[in-house]
Amino acid sequence: MKFGTKAIHAGITPDPTTGAIMTPIYQTSTYVQESPGKHKGYEYSRTHNPTRTALQNALAALENGQYGICFSSGMAATDAVLRLYKPGDEIIVTNDIYGGTYRIMKRIYEGYGLIFRFVDMSNPGNVTEAISDNTRMIWIETPTNPLLKIIDIKQITALCNGRNIHCVVDNTFASPYLQNPLDLGADIVMHSVTKYLGGHSDTVMGALITNDNELAKQLAFIQNAAGAVPGPQDCFLVLRGLKTLHIRMQRHCENAMQIATWLSNHPKVAMVYYPGLTSHPGHEIAKKQMRDFGGMLSFELKGDVYEEAVSTMERLELFSLGESLGGVESLCTHPASMTHASIPKAEREQVGLKDTLIRLSVGIEDVDDLIADLQQAIG
Ligand code: PLP
Repeated sequence: MKFGTKAIHAGITPDPTTGAIMTPIYQTSTYVQESPGKHKGYEYSRTHNPTRTALQNALAALENGQYGICFSSGMAATDAVLRLYKPGDEIIVTNDIYGGTYRIMKRIYEGYGLIFRFVDMSNPGNVTEAISDNTRMIWIETPTNPLLKIIDIKQITALCNGRNIHCVVDNTFASPYLQNPLDLGADIVMHSVTKYLGGHSDTVMGALITNDNELAKQLAFIQNAAGAVPGPQDCFLVLRGLKTLHIRMQRHCENAMQIATWLSNHPKVAMVYYPGLTSHPGHEIAKKQMRDFGGMLSFELKGDVYEEAVSTMERLELFSLGESLGGVESLCTHPASMTHASIPKAEREQVGLKDTLIRLSVGIEDVDDLIADLQQAIG
């Protein structure tokens, strides 16, 4: 089945009791049993809920995985992955990542004895150098947030083979429409479902997808034992969002490509970070492992003046200033003070994240209007 058909049909069966074509919102905490232990597969909604089951199956299908496990946020999904490891285990992490991922690793799990090594994975040689006998997991985010670096997933998963190292990919920026890390050898795919999968800025949710039966069992155990599950209403909203994922992504990519090209020709723009531009250092890898280049881009203005970057963001009208990304409406973010504020300034600067960087989540509005908005804001 091709992607667009899967987005609409995968994991969805008409409701067995009524034939409803849309999965109902099973707003229930518990299920009546005929006699103790005799039930219809559902006992308690932290453990299983039919609306969540339908969504988990749909997400698994879109990532070419067998098992989908949903959580109440992307961070809860990341938290579940980190619970798989023990004190002394080493984890190698992309150095340009979502600030919340950095925060949970450094401020929570380092305290429990996990050891994190942040490296620039756009050069896989850095990963090879960081691997030790204690390495148990490699965490990749690609395209990276917010500098849109591209990491060669296949090269990194090859380093994990035969070494008892899991490879986990945060696929939030790409979405399964653009990239399927399990096909490239990853063990687990993580999503902030809040973003492109939900697609309408109305839900916070996370998901993990895997083909590994043992990992799926452990993660489902954590999902139930720790209990960070999404409610059925949110699952319904994401099920609805998924049905248009392919056409939304197509437009996100088209608009972002046009805006990146326009920005890179603008006399006041110093730098545009977008993997679709042939000048981008990761362009060739992106062409190989992604089907298109996504809806996210970042840029810097000439002169590198903080106040000018801030006033440009304030002048934008169609691009609303806010955290998050991946919704149908365009958003503009100031990573240094918003999404990446939890990373110390010195470390941000070390990876090249300037306080003047502006990040855009390009929506699916008419691109001419988006460009006109940027024109009036940049001047
Ligand atoms: N990963 C990436 C790449 C993100 O951008 C985010 C949120 O912005 C997360 C993970 C965390 O997801 P959530 O906000 O759903 O907890």
